[in-house]
Amino acid sequence: MEAIGVLMTFPISTYLEQELDKRFKLFRYWKFPLKIEFLRENSSSIRAIVGTGRVGGGADTELINSLPRLEIVASHSVGLDKIDLVKCKEKGIRVTYTPDVLTEEVADLAIGLILSTLRRICECDRYLRSGLWKKGAFKLTTKFSGKSVGIVGLGRIGSAIAKRAEAFGCPISYYSRSEKSDSKYKYYPNVIDLASNSQILIVACPLNDETHHIINREVISALGPKGVLINIGRGPLVDEPELVSALVEGRLGGAGLDVFEHEPRVPGQLFGLDNVVLLPHVGTATMETRKAMADLVIGNLEAHFLNRPLLTPVV
Ligand code: NAP
Repeated sequence: MEAIGVLMTFPISTYLEQELDKRFKLFRYWKFPLKIEFLRENSSSIRAIVGTGRVGGGADTELINSLPRLEIVASHSVGLDKIDLVKCKEKGIRVTYTPDVLTEEVADLAIGLILSTLRRICECDRYLRSGLWKKGAFKLTTKFSGKSVGIVGLGRIGSAIAKRAEAFGCPISYYSRSEKSDSKYKYYPNVIDLASNSQILIVACPLNDETHHIINREVISALGPKGVLINIGRGPLVDEPELVSALVEGRLGGAGLDVFEHEPRVPGQLFGLDNVVLLPHVGTATMETRKAMADLVIGNLEAHFLNRPLLTPVV
């Protein structure tokens, strides 16, 4: 029987590569500098894409169109902004993703970002390492417990963050497209009102045409000079130049960012600011969670090629 060709777009993990190698004919797309030649030689044997939410790791229109036998895109992410879902639907290509298994991890990191931004944990560490402690105590910082928390996108991750913030005694409110009838948290029908009534604003919604730059100048102004923005969603949810100028000019109190508008590029002006904490998109980056995500990708591919129901289909 002909081996099933699977195209992996990005070096996601050695474990995933090994497991795919055992089951399929795996093509490591990033290892082929001449993409056109690679596709000319191999496109007719590729029936699946394994992609990710990283830049260059998705399945765009061009790639989908160049694979005539493509049946499924199995994304190693819950965010689907790097996949042309419309094209997949049009061509009858199935799409799967990795919800739930990463929710707790990303929510933990969001709390970590809040604490590190407010309590200046990274700056404290730098202070001690550079020998400054001997010269005097570190400056006073700001408390997290009890601060009002606003969440943009009360989905799986947003709800897990809310649960954790509740344990810190924080009043929670949120904005989503619709009010959640089963939620005890206060709903605001627009982001500006949510930001005006929050001391910490957390961005946890998907990136799409509607949410691009959902955090703009007006939202940042509403959050104000004592407010803190936390972004664990996607970089382009925030108007980055506006965020940078608000931070530089003191119109926003601080920011904790796991994601950026043009990853892996990060605006240089942020490096000079102590009221920001900058992480290299590591929301799901633990061994446990990445293995669970990889297992779900494999489970979805196996289900598809054995004609069984997909484990986590997008649609
Ligand atoms: P989810 O369960 O689908 O939740 C998304 C939430 O956003 C829902 O509450 C949805 O509520 C809301 N939403 C959707 N469209 C919206 C819009 N136009 N305006 C306002 N709210 C909107 O997804 P999830 O599993 O929590 O993941 C959320 C996102 O986190 C992912 O899409 C991904 O981009 C990001 N993420 C980042 C990392 C990382 O490493 N930093 C890791 C995993 C995920 P309504 O339907 O009521 O609007």
